[in-house]
Amino acid sequence: MIRFSLRCDNGHEFESWFKDGAAYDRMAAAGLVECPVCGDTRVAKALMTPAIAKVRGAKGRPEAPPPAAAATPTARAAAGPLPAQVLALLQRMRAEIERSCDYVGADFAEEARRIHYGEAEARGIYGEASEEEAEALREEGIEVARLPWVPRSDG
Ligand SMILES: [Zn+2]
Repeated sequence: MIRFSLRCDNGHEFESWFKDGAAYDRMAAAGLVECPVCGDTRVAKALMTPAIAKVRGAKGRPEAPPPAAAATPTARAAAGPLPAQVLALLQRMRAEIERSCDYVGADFAEEARRIHYGEAEARGIYGEASEEEAEALREEGIEVARLPWVPRSDG
């Protein structure tokens, strides 16, 4: 069923229910739709009621586009210089490593191996190692972490 707001030639507005739009057209053409006020059969559709218009509009409307990817600003920031909060985190990590670990410099890979095989005191160490050295350590089952070594926060 569909409800049309109708208007006769004399300006009377009224509403009437029809099976569908085609049913209204047939009845109106046949002079079967008459104004309840003056009996005029020269009626025309006025605006449809908002409720009907809303339902029909929603049905035909395409899906709303998905919201823009929230990751975009993050990706943009990652491509540029380190965000301040990341830099601060890395500086805190560096300070913590320097406080609790021994610096072994270029001997890192060798010392890590000695610790792993019980030839040196078990402790946290840090130092420099090439990617090849780090990979060799990993293959021996020695856990190493590569960190971006940022300037100290205190300069
Ligand atoms: Zn009328």
